[in-house]
Amino acid sequence: MRTIVLSGSASGIGAAVRGRLERDGCRVLGVDLRDAEVIADLSAPEGRERAVAGVQALAERVDGVVACAGIGPQAEPRARIASVNYFGATALLAGLRPLLARGDAPAAVAVSSNSATISPGADGPLAAACLADDEAGALRLAAELDGATVYAAAKLALARWVRRRAPHADWAGSGIRLNAVAPGAVHTPLLQGGLDHPVLGAAIRGFPIPLGGFGRPEQIAAAVAFLLSGDASFCCGSVLFADGGSDALLRADVF
Ligand code: NAD
Repeated sequence: MRTIVLSGSASGIGAAVRGRLERDGCRVLGVDLRDAEVIADLSAPEGRERAVAGVQALAERVDGVVACAGIGPQAEPRARIASVNYFGATALLAGLRPLLARGDAPAAVAVSSNSATISPGADGPLAAACLADDEAGALRLAAELDGATVYAAAKLALARWVRRRAPHADWAGSGIRLNAVAPGAVHTPLLQGGLDHPVLGAAIRGFPIPLGGFGRPEQIAAAVAFLLSGDASFCCGSVLFADGGSDALLRADVF
């Protein structure tokens, strides 16, 4: 039985990933603020250490890690968006890498977002500060930006973190496949929070989705399950868009 660590397992996409993996016969070790095997707050270094130590207490090796926990662009304070969505995700992946290295055909997946590529302000100093591992600087920058830009910058940095590491010794060289998914708008409590927001709501509703309508968490769970599985055994450093075609529509030739 494969053991998969899954952050954000209590809700939305994470809950759907848990359901999918358990139906596929996996043992899932959830990491979340509530309703999980490991209760930890990934917004701060102590919570990230607690998450890694909590998993280590339950498993000597793991076969997969999914960094799914995240908060939406409507979250306050805005600096917390960068703390959870970039620093929490990367700390979990890096912290559990030694356990993955002992796993069977190990694989890891980070949940990024198509906001990383389609938001004009994403590629700026905040994404750079994240990738420089300058959390204090990133949080200062985040406090000055709007939530949508902080969210997009953190998700862009997360996808780049994956691409920068996946092909190198610690990951591919150690037999661990590292990839990302980039969901578009998916019906979850996080998206509902955006839809209920006075400014973000109209922007989300007006966003073009060629396949029509928002996605379902199970559709993202299928992409995550694929990247964790042997069917994706040649995928390394991929960012798999599961967004109903929005990224292709808006950036067809950016490739
Ligand atoms: P959700 O709010 O339904 O679930 C998020 C989960 O993360 C919750 O269980 C929550 O408790 C957990 N979490 C939040 N902060 C945490 C913290 N500090 N420490 C530990 N756990 C924490 O949201 P969702 O829509 O299922 O989002 C899952 C992931 O997918 C997020 O990373 C999100 O950014 C990403 N995403 C979502 C959408 C979308 O439209 N829903 C689109 C693109 C990407």
